[in-house]
Amino acid sequence: MALVLFSGGQDSTTCLAWALERFERVETIGFDYGQRHRVELGQRPVLRDALAGLKPEWARRLGPDHVLELSALGAISDTALTSKKAIEMGEKGLPNTFVPGRNLIFLTFAAALAYRRGLKRIVGGMCETDFSGYPDCRDDAIKAMQVALNIGMESRFVLETPLMWLDKARTWALARELGGDGLVEAIVEHSATCYLGERGERHAWGHGCGQCPACVLRAEGFEKWKKSGM
Ligand code: ZN
Repeated sequence: MALVLFSGGQDSTTCLAWALERFERVETIGFDYGQRHRVELGQRPVLRDALAGLKPEWARRLGPDHVLELSALGAISDTALTSKKAIEMGEKGLPNTFVPGRNLIFLTFAAALAYRRGLKRIVGGMCETDFSGYPDCRDDAIKAMQVALNIGMESRFVLETPLMWLDKARTWALARELGGDGLVEAIVEHSATCYLGERGERHAWGHGCGQCPACVLRAEGFEKWKKSGM
């Protein structure tokens, strides 16, 4: 029984498929924190329906969706993800798309919900391989959170991060492994990864501006995957 941090992007959609393949009951959680790419929130129900349509057991296992309003996070951060700023590198070698503490806050709220819903596993798309240097995507940060949450809530949550050591090409390969071409097509057509929240034209790898770091990473990963024959 699992709770998936589901943003409506490529990574979290792959994580949702991963969880549906493994666990008898899977619920999803999303956060509205004033993100610039709010278009992703609207894609969440579309993607949930698309995944439920791929396999009968996925449809049976997919439970309720929860959307939490976290505007306080947007209010206290001044980043290119939460305001109309140009995306650039900041001090400490971190891009200004970094929202400090975001994943730590998300995991805390997810655990509070999982506690109430009786869900033991919390699944997130954090990834140390192809990440943008976000420290709260690192394996050590997630492991430390697991310990803190379990001590603080007297629980035995398991934080699952199936993409932690995969690059974007392997994430595409995993999607096909889990849900065939149908899942790849659903991700290409419906998932939103673009930092600017653009749907725009459809490229081979999906919709997006094609220029921002998230689009570039996604496009390059797709191309590498296609070439690799994985
Ligand atoms: Zn983009």
